[in-house]
Amino acid sequence: FRIKTPQNESVLSYAKESDERIKLKARLTELKKEQIEIPLIIGGKEIYTGNTQKCVIPHDKNHVLAIYHMAGEREVEDAIEASLKAKKEWDKMPWQHRASIFLKAAELLSGPWRFTLNAATMLGQSKTAYQAEIDSACELIDFLRFNTYFMSEIYNEQLISTNESWNRIEYRSLEGFVFSVTPFNFTAIGGNLGIAPALMGNVVLWKPAGTSVYSNYFVMKLLQEAGLPDGVINFVPGSGSLIGNVVFNNEWLAGVHFTGSTKVFNGMWKTIGENIGKYRSYPRIVGETGGKDFIFAHKLANINKLVTALIRGAFEYQGQKCSAVSRAYIPRSIWSVVKCKLISECATIKMGDVEDFTNFMGAVIDKNSFDRIKAYIEFAHNSDEAEVIWGGNCDERLGYFIEPTIIVTKNPYFKTMTEEIFGPVLTIYVYEDEKFQETLKICNDSTPYALTGGIFSQDRMALVEMENILTYAAGNLYINDKPTGAVVGQQPFGGGRASGTNDKAGSKLNLLRWTNPRVIKENF
Ligand code: GLU
Repeated sequence: FRIKTPQNESVLSYAKESDERIKLKARLTELKKEQIEIPLIIGGKEIYTGNTQKCVIPHDKNHVLAIYHMAGEREVEDAIEASLKAKKEWDKMPWQHRASIFLKAAELLSGPWRFTLNAATMLGQSKTAYQAEIDSACELIDFLRFNTYFMSEIYNEQLISTNESWNRIEYRSLEGFVFSVTPFNFTAIGGNLGIAPALMGNVVLWKPAGTSVYSNYFVMKLLQEAGLPDGVINFVPGSGSLIGNVVFNNEWLAGVHFTGSTKVFNGMWKTIGENIGKYRSYPRIVGETGGKDFIFAHKLANINKLVTALIRGAFEYQGQKCSAVSRAYIPRSIWSVVKCKLISECATIKMGDVEDFTNFMGAVIDKNSFDRIKAYIEFAHNSDEAEVIWGGNCDERLGYFIEPTIIVTKNPYFKTMTEEIFGPVLTIYVYEDEKFQETLKICNDSTPYALTGGIFSQDRMALVEMENILTYAAGNLYINDKPTGAVVGQQPFGGGRASGTNDKAGSKLNLLRWTNPRVIKENF
């Protein structure tokens, strides 16, 4: 029994007066009126702890969308217990039935649920309709369908047998529970980090980022509606350190599925290392972390394609993608044309309320992000090694708005050229054409990260050279394209070095990490 290769979900346009725009608008209006209360969901039960936080709209910061309840130690213990209880039946369930639940979730999401999840992502995370559509609708549907397909491939694997003996491989789930810690910037990642291990028969404690609890709660409700049994995924918002403290001390911790900052991930490795004697097995640690993603242009780059990639790569979703372009290397010979075009493109960018479908950018996620990004811009403003050639204004009166900002520096090791900013800030280093190889080496070595990158040239030999020098500089390398927007099944996503364990989200490789294979040889 195999599942046929899925097709990627088509992206809806939300064009003026389209059916989808009408439905989405209606859902936006309803959600804004509702102000819901979000419980923890443990063993299928709703838990209200009374220790609450607000979910607000980043571009309209005084509008409270919901309040959510946070876990205390007791709830974390309960969630672990509920997951281990659910595991007894879940990993015995024929995998076809597990598959069915997630395929049903994909089907529901391609129907009316799509508008609920997109509206929640737009409001809670300040995404435009397009950015929400490619995330909480298409990417999540694709994760559900493609992972189910990869799972069926894994369970159908055969080992070589002989006439005298028969060899089997049994992809058991991990012995314990998986801790999924998810980021605010993609609702799809929120879902997938729990879904992928669960598909393979694991049970999960899901800690969503505080700033995306709103949309992530709807993902949890969607999975419940699709028939996910109680306790398989437990929704546990709360403080990372409090939850971590309980989880990392539990003997049944069998895996961590993480997307977030390098710093937090490093802390987890360290704690797990310190506690290593406490666990029944070595926990699987899978993480996608920071990035300082680049575009490197050669003198024979197609300039229009390059400019589009810089703008979209750096500023879509306010630059809050691990994959966003935040440093670029442009040869002197084409710089004046590139600069002119960049500035005229920037002048057309509209920023504001994402419910206005003509806006290209919304606000950054919260006050912390706003302050951090603003400090980087101020640093550039005050430095004589850099010049802010576009944008730079920050305005938090209504919401956390930061203009698309372009900095040019003469120092390829400048702070904004090497540190992750996670906001709409692009730093450009203009190199002398004859220093092509030397600059490629700087691009390779000047940051600890290696997530994504884009290289631009119309000269094949130059591309070969760039690809070679940048061998380990990116887990996802794009030729003549922006380095964001990986599509499940087409560009499995992840990077190395300080960007993560490179266990490619939405791939067979990732699913295999959630298994504990047993090989059985039987002699006749
Ligand atoms: N997969 C996303 C992309 O290709 C980025 C994911 C992330 O930000 O973690 O743009």
